[in-house]
Amino acid sequence: MDNKNEVVKKEEEILAFWKEKNIFKKSLDQRNQSPVFSFYDGPPFATGLPHYGHIVPSLMKDIIPRYQTMKGNYVERRWGWDCHGLPVENIVENELGLKSKKDIEEVGIEKFNETCRGVVMKFQKEWRATIERMGRWVDMDNDYKTMDLEYMESIWWVFKELWDKGLIYESYKSMHICPRCETTLSQSEVAEGYKDIRDISVIAKFELQDEPKTYVLAWTTTPWTLPGNVALAMGEDIEYALVRSGDEKYILAKENVERLMEGKNYEIAGSVLAKDLEGKKYKPLFPWDYSEFLKNQNTENLYTIHLANFVTVEDGTGVVHIAPAFGEDDMNLGKEKNLPFIQHVGYDGRFRALGGDFSGMEVKPRGSHTKTDEKIVSFLEELDRVFLSEEYTHSYPHCWRCETPLLNYATTSWFVAVTKIKNELLKNAEEIRWIPAHVKTGRFGNWLEGARDWAISRQRFWGSVMPVWRCECSEMRAFGSVKELEKASGEKISDLHKHVVDAVVVPCGKCGKDMKRIPDVLDCWFESGSMPYAQVHYPFENKEKFEKSFPADFIAEGVDQTRAWFYYLHVIAGAIKGSVAFQNVDVNGIVLAEDGKKMSKRLKNYPAPEEIFEKYGADAMRYYLATSGAVRAEDLHFSEKEVIEVFRNVIMLTNNILRFYKTYEDTAGEFTAQPKNILDRWILANFKTLLSEMTLHLDDYDIMRAARPIEKFIQDFSTWYLRRSRARFKDGDPEGIALFGHVLREFSKAIAPFMPFLAERVYNEAGGSQESVHLEDWPETEVHSQSRESRDLLEEMETTRKIVEFGLAKRAEEGIKVRQPLRALYVTGSALRDEFIPLVKDELNVKEVDFSKGEELRISLDTNITKELEMEGDAREFIRYVNQERRKQGLTISDRVKLYVNGDFVESLRQHEKDILKTTLADSMEYKSGDEKIVINGKKGTFSIIRA
Ligand SMILES: [Zn+2]
Ligand SMILES: [Zn+2]
Repeated sequence: MDNKNEVVKKEEEILAFWKEKNIFKKSLDQRNQSPVFSFYDGPPFATGLPHYGHIVPSLMKDIIPRYQTMKGNYVERRWGWDCHGLPVENIVENELGLKSKKDIEEVGIEKFNETCRGVVMKFQKEWRATIERMGRWVDMDNDYKTMDLEYMESIWWVFKELWDKGLIYESYKSMHICPRCETTLSQSEVAEGYKDIRDISVIAKFELQDEPKTYVLAWTTTPWTLPGNVALAMGEDIEYALVRSGDEKYILAKENVERLMEGKNYEIAGSVLAKDLEGKKYKPLFPWDYSEFLKNQNTENLYTIHLANFVTVEDGTGVVHIAPAFGEDDMNLGKEKNLPFIQHVGYDGRFRALGGDFSGMEVKPRGSHTKTDEKIVSFLEELDRVFLSEEYTHSYPHCWRCETPLLNYATTSWFVAVTKIKNELLKNAEEIRWIPAHVKTGRFGNWLEGARDWAISRQRFWGSVMPVWRCECSEMRAFGSVKELEKASGEKISDLHKHVVDAVVVPCGKCGKDMKRIPDVLDCWFESGSMPYAQVHYPFENKEKFEKSFPADFIAEGVDQTRAWFYYLHVIAGAIKGSVAFQNVDVNGIVLAEDGKKMSKRLKNYPAPEEIFEKYGADAMRYYLATSGAVRAEDLHFSEKEVIEVFRNVIMLTNNILRFYKTYEDTAGEFTAQPKNILDRWILANFKTLLSEMTLHLDDYDIMRAARPIEKFIQDFSTWYLRRSRARFKDGDPEGIALFGHVLREFSKAIAPFMPFLAERVYNEAGGSQESVHLEDWPETEVHSQSRESRDLLEEMETTRKIVEFGLAKRAEEGIKVRQPLRALYVTGSALRDEFIPLVKDELNVKEVDFSKGEELRISLDTNITKELEMEGDAREFIRYVNQERRKQGLTISDRVKLYVNGDFVESLRQHEKDILKTTLADSMEYKSGDEKIVINGKKGTFSIIRA
């Protein structure tokens, strides 16, 4: 079996061991009287499969709680599932073949919702498999679901708290809606779906009522809104020009004349002041009858020019076409100037009864979003109302779920008045520690600064409902618990989903008529933002438990959650508790394919996580991710090659160290914290430095900085400590081996949060005293002070290694093999204490090291090879041949041999016979010819090895 599979096999055995022995539970139980370290888990949807975007935060959510547990805290880790909202609804729509909201209403909300309930946990098994396999410890048996009655009841309580504080209101505003999902979206949902698209922009000609052939030019990127035009807006401070071209005259911003009239025959006929045009009337663009749309409205101001301060000269003409039904500025101006309102588009994104063949047409169909705009433009062209139309690329919002282009649309929605409490939210946010720190004032701070009121109502079906009942007489009542509703309605309530509670009526306290629930459901971020309360059914149960665990000490999620989960947790906690919801937060970046593109199942441009687990094990992936910028909000280009490097340089190297220890563990003596050997003292000091560095960074929640030094330590351990200790361990060194074992066990504790499998293996095989390393305490460490002695020791060893490194380079330069002993090494600019000198001598194979004063570190070698040195070199070379042959024959350290050898180098061997016998584990050496030919430093001969 090759090494790779051995690691994977071992991990699987350890997984089974944890499960069988309930190690996770034991690690919690033994701390259940300890201080609480509070961790909240952000709930994922179980309707998609887990991917790297979940694995990175899962890793962070494993490392910190494991560490805090080892530090002596009780860290509950409870899994949650996000069950509601558009992702689930969209799956069910596809499953049931429903194309629109009307289709859903036709099959019935009950059937629709019950189907949603059925598919929500679709991939639960796959999630469990992946999360367990990656070694994350989290309680998935005792999970919470946002669709549970208890959870939903707490949501009502949160809502009612906001309601009672006057933070919930209903308003008619310009919003973004998804015409396919037929619902409003929140600011953060809208922000998530911006994409660059090519649209058609048009400059339309608005002819002045009393000046025929004089046109005001106005620009728009949404030609479909032109039928809703009721006014034009000009800027008071903008200079306009009157331009003559042919028999027509145009009014537009002076600054834009050159650009827009390019290629046309024209002359500037004069300047125009916006003020002079204010109140002037123009002719409608479309020849249609608008009387139905304008019923009962003030039409006095229809098709009039107004002044407005939001008009600029950038991009357009310096004149803005105003359609109050489709834009915030437009709507505000409409209110200010008492303009009529033409809502010619339905909530489903289709034209209402318009002229021509436009009625019923989708204004921005998904997949062919410019189709309708093109039709509008050509219709206007036929009427000679188009000055210019061209393609225009801009960033446009799309539905984050179904990718339909959103519409800016005036409609009624319910809001949380975030702006009312913004100052307090900003103040609270100062308490939060972010990793990386820049998110605090950057992405999060900026978002919070620019926060608007939160649109929480959705005109959908599968979600927590708005617990508000309203009467015809406009009386309203919000309910904060099941009991309250039961009492008011006289009905038994066992489910709070829409299809159930919509049927519940409540008598109006004012007029006695039936109050009905307002039909909207809640934004599902309202639910995930309420998880601190709802996961424990607060305040109906677990009051004390909640108080102990609020706010969270730690949470972790991706950078995309800055404007979502992090933000909503913060808003709700600020509003109802006047507090932060979390104190420390680790933010991960996005994992991309190696080529920097999005990971795509279709393009197969990345290895699936399961594939990585299968080939290199979970620890290799964990360490790779933990040491990457991915745990500090940076994008990561996932590289399998780099996982392989970790596998080799961290996992396999540690296994080799462990194997070496196992060979000699029986010879271990008593452990002493004050060992004599310089290498022992050094590895101990080195480990203490590693530990204090890791502790420092873990206390700061900085996973990457805590993880990185581990690899260096393993390298030091293997390529210096073991390399230089091999001979003494072979010869028997009870104190050294005991220390070796001690360092391994302590090391296993330090890596336990990062590489829980490797840690378990090392701990168990190096003789850990507990059932599992994960039941251990974090090793004692002095974080801030390092003794002068150990600092000197580490520094001097560093110099020693530098001298060795230079010496080896010099040998290579001179073409002298390391096996050939040399008389002396001369070191200028540095000196070592006596106990370090043998390390240099052995490693560089020199008889003497000579130090002298000087500026910088320089070294040179005495390269004169005397007869005596040459003979020693021959002997060393012969030893290498013999040991190579021993390996070839599969001999182990318990097999003794007899040697037969003859040739031109025999004299050299005679001189060093004792040494040869010892190092090759031979009983005797006879100078007779053997079967194998060899050449030693140019001298020919033969030899044989016979098992004794
Ligand atoms: Zn949509
Ligand atoms: Zn009433």
